[in-house]
Amino acid sequence: MNAVVIEMVRGKDRKLYRAHPLSDAERARARWLAHALVCRDKLSIRAAQRALRESYGIPRSLGILARDLRGWQCPSCAERP
Ligand SMILES: [Zn+2]
Repeated sequence: MNAVVIEMVRGKDRKLYRAHPLSDAERARARWLAHALVCRDKLSIRAAQRALRESYGIPRSLGILARDLRGWQCPSCAERP
């Protein structure tokens, strides 16, 4: 896996945010990764959020993750009854 270096800035609420928003391609990748972590690896949304941030360098809010997961199905989800 490639090391991911992301430029962060501190917001007014003292939390760290990405200096640049995700591109469409990054967002699609983040959505796919989040889905794979939850669907294939059976992680909770919270655990998937941590894995995205720590392993892939993609910080996502729980709300955004939950929204992404609701609106997305992979082939193995779609096959499930
Ligand atoms: Zn799935």
